[in-house]
Amino acid sequence: MINIRKSTVHTANTLRAQALVNDHSVISSAEFSQSRKNISLVVTSTQLKSVNPHVTYYRSGRNLSEVVLRPESGNRILIGNELIPATVVVVNGKITKIHPGVLDPISVCDCGNVINAGDSVVMPGIVDSHVHVNEPGRTEWEGFWTATRAAAAGGITTLIDMPLNSIPPTTTVSNLLEKHHAADGKCHVDVGFWGGVVPDNVDDLQPLVENGVDDLQPLVENGVVGFKCFLIHSGVDEFPSVEETHVDEALSKLKGTGSVLAFHAEVDCSSNPENDANPNEYKTFLESRPPQMEKDAIELVAKLCRKHGDVRCHIVHLSAADAIPTIAKLKAEGYPLTVETCPHYLTLNADTISDNDTTFKCCPPIRNPENQEKLWEALKEGVIDLIVSDHSPCVAELKQPGVKDFMSAWGGISSVQFGLPIIWTSAKDRGLSISDVSRWMSRNPAQLAGLGNTKGQIQEGYDADFVVWDPEADTLIEESSILHRNKLTPYKHRQLTEFKAVW
Ligand SMILES: [Zn+2]
Repeated sequence: MINIRKSTVHTANTLRAQALVNDHSVISSAEFSQSRKNISLVVTSTQLKSVNPHVTYYRSGRNLSEVVLRPESGNRILIGNELIPATVVVVNGKITKIHPGVLDPISVCDCGNVINAGDSVVMPGIVDSHVHVNEPGRTEWEGFWTATRAAAAGGITTLIDMPLNSIPPTTTVSNLLEKHHAADGKCHVDVGFWGGVVPDNVDDLQPLVENGVDDLQPLVENGVVGFKCFLIHSGVDEFPSVEETHVDEALSKLKGTGSVLAFHAEVDCSSNPENDANPNEYKTFLESRPPQMEKDAIELVAKLCRKHGDVRCHIVHLSAADAIPTIAKLKAEGYPLTVETCPHYLTLNADTISDNDTTFKCCPPIRNPENQEKLWEALKEGVIDLIVSDHSPCVAELKQPGVKDFMSAWGGISSVQFGLPIIWTSAKDRGLSISDVSRWMSRNPAQLAGLGNTKGQIQEGYDADFVVWDPEADTLIEESSILHRNKLTPYKHRQLTEFKAVW
């Protein structure tokens, strides 16, 4: 058994709870109750906290106490792998009791508060373990206030911030404390942090250990959920890539901690585009980052994973299906490897990306439909474990569709708000279930982040993190509905399923 450490998440001053989505905006639960005749929502014991003159949020979440949550009828609460009728009692932000059936609240709890979910689906809140918040340092790209508000609007109740694109990057304890300070009072959802492995902090490990201080161990103890490294240029100079020797040393340091090392799995190979290739065509960018770059990187990860045995390794944002056999083999051998992919690799199509539309640029790149179908198959077979956003926005000047070319535009896709509707829209067409989606987007990411004992499932003793939504409804993504700080996204004007509420 791998020892999954319980991670620390930033919950102080959490604003999450009843950030509700309706008519393309986040509204209060009181407004929600009025706007949906078939749903009654009464939460009387929590204090309204006005943190923004234009929007009212409940200060609630884990502070939410004495609430009974139930559907009006039908099999609509996801417990384990089944949608069943159930009545859930929440006390002080924890699920204390799950009763089968839709019961009279008075018979299960003397709570004064009843959340009647009507005919909506009640599912564990989404856990997005791959988000670039970029604050401090590049707050004009995104920030804790905007990223977590957009996340709440997308059904996410926990997000884990990546260690790079903020300045400073999260590579030391003091930098982590800067992150906590920057996040304080701005989080609408629970937030955790990844640490980073860079050449500098790996080189420092041994002398630091000899002096009784180790840069990685304190980061683990101070609550990073794990570490990320790059095997190729990261896109920002302050977070340099690592070599095999650095990774080898880092994995040695992580042995016995229960922590995990995540890899941006691309390595350079000799396939740069011809000098005369047109940088405004998507094809030019795609050919500059062939599947072989991922395949070679994952071969290296496999080698190191086998060498270090029981240290957890994780591959972020897999795009190239060519690497799936290597991954499947390693997992079949019993090594603790997990793999994620992203909504853009599962739903967008390289063949239809227009010239100059740099909103689609990300690394590794979006590939063709044949590749995409293999990713779905790997998800179904459990070779790919989870789906996360890799929300990686920037200011418009660095992305600029039509102005920047593919080779010079920022590589990163903004989508933290839309992961669940994007995936459900495609998953239901493939005959996949709500339970499948919840496993990929809640349970497995929670386990990756060391939160598998408290989040990602509706179970007694777990955190009361819920997303309430209607899998049959549709909505159109328009600029006015986007709550990310920067609104450029390839999903604009897409028709997706609609959300109702998160707690
Ligand atoms: Zn990323």
